[in-house]
Amino acid sequence: MNPVTPQTSVDYLPSVAGEWDVIVVGGGPAGATTAALVAEYGHRVLLLERSSVPRFHVGESLIPETWWTLRRLGLLQQLTESAFPRKYSVQFVSDGYRESAPFYFDLHKPHESSVTWQVIRSEFDRMILDRAHELGAVVHTSAQVIEVLFDGDRATGVRVQLKNKNGTRTETTVSATVIVDATGQSAFISNRRRDRIRDPHLRKGTIWGYFRGAQRDSGRDEGATLIMQTEGKKSWFWYIPLPDDLVSVGCTGDIPYLFGKDTGTPAESFARELARCPAMGRRLTAAEQCGEFLTTRDFSYYAGTGAGAGWLLVGDAFGFVDPVYSSGVFLALKGGEFAADSIHEALERGDTSAARLGQWQPLYKQGIENFRKLVYAFYATDFSFASFLKEHPQFHSNLVDILVGDVFKPGVGRMFDAMGGIEPPVAE
Ligand SMILES: Cc1cc2nc3c(=O)[nH]c(=O)nc-3n(C[C@H](O)[C@H](O)[C@H](O)COP(=O)(O)OP(=O)(O)OC[C@H]3O[C@@H](n4cnc5c(N)ncnc54)[C@H](O)[C@@H]3O)c2cc1C
Repeated sequence: MNPVTPQTSVDYLPSVAGEWDVIVVGGGPAGATTAALVAEYGHRVLLLERSSVPRFHVGESLIPETWWTLRRLGLLQQLTESAFPRKYSVQFVSDGYRESAPFYFDLHKPHESSVTWQVIRSEFDRMILDRAHELGAVVHTSAQVIEVLFDGDRATGVRVQLKNKNGTRTETTVSATVIVDATGQSAFISNRRRDRIRDPHLRKGTIWGYFRGAQRDSGRDEGATLIMQTEGKKSWFWYIPLPDDLVSVGCTGDIPYLFGKDTGTPAESFARELARCPAMGRRLTAAEQCGEFLTTRDFSYYAGTGAGAGWLLVGDAFGFVDPVYSSGVFLALKGGEFAADSIHEALERGDTSAARLGQWQPLYKQGIENFRKLVYAFYATDFSFASFLKEHPQFHSNLVDILVGDVFKPGVGRMFDAMGGIEPPVAE
């Protein structure tokens, strides 16, 4: 077991009987944010999460623009008092050793929101779920949704397997006016509708682990995320400092390159790539690995349809673009906020059509597009950010806008016109 997996978890096992305005399926950042804010509006919300809490999750690095949703959720003080390292910057390394100057977020925007956190996800996600509970959402854990029920094309409820207080399980159906799919990479609804579209340019996999005693930079740089491309650009590492002298280190590359039949075990693949990245090797020389390597793959996709009559998708269930810019939790929080406002308006007007519930999604998709284009540029073999900024220094702040998550700002994508239509190669 790795050191960030919770040793003990508990269950919330309330009654699910009753009249519900909204059922949220999934208690990660997207589902918990949606549930918290819809409950805050005064609607009756049931959140169903299949795990006990807290539960382990990959994805520890936040970006600055999460601050606004975290403020709306009332979580800033708790985060400020937490042991989570403060993140002031992100730094990129190319060719395995060439370290660029860090992007300090507060130089770009001198505001409290420019300092963010590196979080243990089990603890962070639990904070939001507890907040949803405090704001009046009824949270049931160990509750696995096995079917979303439809009447024609209108979602009407769910069939769910619940753990009871005596440890037995029962299956029941629960109805609501709106069903929110926040099931993360399980993408419950779009999978069943066969509507999940994989990005052919981003068929990547990741091998990651946790280390204690790695070399850390000092002062403001101590909590920085480091993104290090290996020699030849075939893979890259993340380095995310966590509390208790731990660091999360992951290596991402094309699936056949990292997991092909001749590549050996994940540990062997990781060691091979580490040898191609002296800047990371140096940081891990005296470090001790805690627990086994973990793997995940093929995580970049989007749903063809984001909303229907009485249902909508939020967070990773809607889509995910690659972990390189740590955009996932931000998009989950922001999507949860957008979704909650739309659901409130839809319930007030008595119009829970696809158009009303999904009214925020065109703007949201544009934001995702901005991250996606920057991800494409990162993986393109013939593109270098350093050369691009040398030639077009006017786009420096545009680039940082996207790195901090300010992706919904009008005009923020204009630098992509100067970049041209960059696409990384499709993995063989
Ligand atoms: C390799 C990798 C590295 C990443 N690194 C980062 C990072 O550094 N920073 C960052 O911001 N993001 C990162 N991400 C992305 C980030 O982790 C996700 O975008 C984020 O967790 C999405 O939140 P969510 O609430 O949509 O989904 P999740 O957090 O996955 O939550 C979904 C929840 O739904 C529950 N669920 C699923 N199916 C059912 C069901 N049938 N019934 C009931 N409950 C169900 C699950 O148990 C889970 O708790 C990374 C992703 C990957 C793949």
